[in-house]
Amino acid sequence: MKITEIINGAKPSLSFEVFPPKTSEKFDGVLAAACEIAKLKPSYMSVTYGAGGGTSEYTTAICRELNGRGVTSLAHLTCVSSDRSRIELELGNLRAQGIENILALRGDIPEGFDRSRISYSHASELVKEIVEFGGFCIGGACYPEGHPESANISDDIEGLKKKVDSGCEFLTTQMFFDNNILYNFLYRLLKAGVNVPVVAGIMPVTAAAQIKRLCSISSTALPQRFIRIVDRYGDNPAAMKQAGIAYATEQIIDLFANGINAVHVYSMNKPDVAAAIRRNLSEILS
Ligand code: FAD
Repeated sequence: MKITEIINGAKPSLSFEVFPPKTSEKFDGVLAAACEIAKLKPSYMSVTYGAGGGTSEYTTAICRELNGRGVTSLAHLTCVSSDRSRIELELGNLRAQGIENILALRGDIPEGFDRSRISYSHASELVKEIVEFGGFCIGGACYPEGHPESANISDDIEGLKKKVDSGCEFLTTQMFFDNNILYNFLYRLLKAGVNVPVVAGIMPVTAAAQIKRLCSISSTALPQRFIRIVDRYGDNPAAMKQAGIAYATEQIIDLFANGINAVHVYSMNKPDVAAAIRRNLSEILS
């Protein structure tokens, strides 16, 4: 099933993300976690694409398994480390495995990378190529607080518009911890004429170390309310986990209440966290 059919439906959509292992020894464990999450009957599940593409076979294998279990999969695909023939191979492989949905990404440009060797400067070029290849429902990433490479949010939305105009049919946001940031962003998208559905990405922060890592790699703002939770419970792993799940649940309920119909949870291969959030929303999603 195409992701756009799911997220444009009348029912609120709750989906989960998993990431593939870096090595083959960890594959069975990650696949088992993904299958546990699939038992929650999410609206769909996405599987990320390892930087550099060295683990793309795991992304495809997990997607195929999820489809086989009746859960629509969304395969991430990055292009920054690939050339056109490699992308064509990847697309052919995804099609052969019956995968219908792709989140088309550029990927982070590796530090010190010789930019003159890049075949793709932006995800919009990959989107165009997937459109030409045909047959896929194509999504892309967006950044309610702006992508770090953009001078400001208006420039970022200009770039995003090019991606959507190239054929991107829906967007998934970077995580955010203050829903007002998303509401403001959606308003700006409408004003800029970006009309595709936006799936809100929610990260349940269940360990203090996770938040330090996240903040070092992204420019996500942390509201005072959230910082106080980490300060108060960060040293108590069980309490931090409970508080992180409660915070994410509250964010999701507020999003649904404000008319956002699709939420994607960055479940970090943790079936217990995904299950707790699903349980907290049982009546809301029924
Ligand atoms: P782009 O869409 O190319 O945007 C990058 C910058 O260029 C932005 O500032 C944008 O405004 C600007 N821009 C875009 N198009 C144009 C244009 N045509 N002309 C001029 N400027 C333009 N990384 C992985 O390695 N694997 C993953 O699986 C993965 N999944 C992700 C999922 C989500 C939901 C998100 C939010 C991010 C994910 N990332 C992943 C990280 C992502 O690859 C990085 O953030 C990367 O730096 C940008 O990728 P992009 O596809 O958003 O790039």
